[in-house]
Amino acid sequence: MNDIAHNLAQVRDKISAAATRCGRASEEITLLAVSKTKPASAIAEAIAAGHRAFGENYVQEGVDKIRAFREQGNTDLQWHFIGPLQSNKSRLVAEHFDWCHTIDRLRIATRLSDQRPAEMPALNVLIQINISDENSKSGITLSELDALAAEVAALPRLTLRGLMAIPAPESSYERQFAVAQQMAVAFEALKARYDTVDTLSLGMSDDMEAAIAAGSTMVRIGTAIFGARDYTQ
Ligand SMILES: *Cc1c(COP(=O)(O)O)cnc(C)c1O
Repeated sequence: MNDIAHNLAQVRDKISAAATRCGRASEEITLLAVSKTKPASAIAEAIAAGHRAFGENYVQEGVDKIRAFREQGNTDLQWHFIGPLQSNKSRLVAEHFDWCHTIDRLRIATRLSDQRPAEMPALNVLIQINISDENSKSGITLSELDALAAEVAALPRLTLRGLMAIPAPESSYERQFAVAQQMAVAFEALKARYDTVDTLSLGMSDDMEAAIAAGSTMVRIGTAIFGARDYTQ
């Protein structure tokens, strides 16, 4: 087994253990392998190990990878855009990705809906909530959620699937769980109103257990699968 296959198996085991501890089925939790900055060869190893869902943060880098794998005949991969999105890049996301996790204003959502090609299925979107990180400019507050959700749900070429958050780092499990639970409450309320809503994208390497215990359905893991990122190149 190569390193990436081995790491993937370990992360999957951790997810199963966390799910079992809180009485959930591990199938309820999707592992998103965050492949930003990593070469196509690393993604190919994860694909060979049976993985299909990948998260990318940078539009052009993600599009290049999506195109390359599609040209090689890999048509069953799922590509998630998880980075901050500027208006002038929305068309590339609309034309290539399957999901966008970082909807935080109507203007971006409208552009994505307008730009989604007719021959593709609707783009799956998550609304990003700024749940605890006062320094981050990304995401809306929970008080703004109902209004934005209603507008996004009405856009014809988007499917509102749920919520995403990147909580500020917390070292204690109790603090992580408290924040994750606020997200879970908002998610359950949204789910009760929209039957397309089924996804809470929450939990990274350091807070995965607390996120799963609170009700996350998708964890985003990069370093533990692909190793440390090199930003010097
Ligand atoms: C980079 C990133 C991750 C993965 O982070 P790791 O620390 O490498 O596991 C998850 N979510 C988002 C939004 C990211 O940008």
